[in-house]
Amino acid sequence: MSPLPSAPVIVNALTIDVEDYFQVSAFATHIARDEWNTLPCRVERNVEAILLLLAEADVKATFFCLGWIAERYPALIRRLSDEGHEVASHGFAHRRATEQTSSQFQADIQLSKALLEDITGRPVHGYRAPSFSVGTANPWAFDCIARAGYRYSSSIYPIRHDHYGVPDAPRFMHDSRPGLVELPIATVRLFDANWPAGGGGYFRLLPYRLSRWSLRRINRIDRQPAMFYFHPWELDPEQPRISGVGARTRFRHYVNLGRMAPRLRRLLADFKWDRVDRVFAAGTA
Ligand SMILES: [Zn+2]
Repeated sequence: MSPLPSAPVIVNALTIDVEDYFQVSAFATHIARDEWNTLPCRVERNVEAILLLLAEADVKATFFCLGWIAERYPALIRRLSDEGHEVASHGFAHRRATEQTSSQFQADIQLSKALLEDITGRPVHGYRAPSFSVGTANPWAFDCIARAGYRYSSSIYPIRHDHYGVPDAPRFMHDSRPGLVELPIATVRLFDANWPAGGGGYFRLLPYRLSRWSLRRINRIDRQPAMFYFHPWELDPEQPRISGVGARTRFRHYVNLGRMAPRLRRLLADFKWDRVDRVFAAGTA
């Protein structure tokens, strides 16, 4: 890892996908949707912990909120907006776009947008698909996102992964449809491949220094802002354990949960961060 040249400080986009531990796609075959109502919710306290971290660092972020959560915790959504954070949409029911017809998908993303706008009294411009489930297999989904009135999508992780990812997608902001830009999750380009640098399980699994090096490289070599994401349940080592899941899923979900809060503190201190609509104002205004 060679030293990198200094350059003007670039502001990166910090994002949080607001969903609870039992809604993650990797558990979908173990927890039926009609069980969601019976499980203890942890999202409110976990988002509050995130708000404290952000306040300590004086950082504003973008929260991609699930409609299902917003319906149950409207005061939490209102608080995000009132504290100066951007409220964006993660859809309503956390169904992958690949498991829906275009009309089902359209209804889901319109419902969550309307609900979040109703709660906050502010327009919602951003959308992120559950599990990055839009891409070359379902280009119609981007037409739906544009038609629903979103200005930006952050739904593509340009990496190779067994559950998601479009490895050859553009790595940075690009036009998707008229009036809609795509803001992909950060990757670092090395050895003719894209490597994950924008969060998810990789941020918990890999040493922090590697994440920091990757993000610096994006800012200083690519001279681009990075799009970073995490989930409220990633800061919650006490969350109830889901039984019966395979070893790989269990490892991915639970690895290093206890290290997340101190790591995020370092991340917030080591880089400049802001909400998506301000970082990418040129494309999303
Ligand atoms: Zn999600």
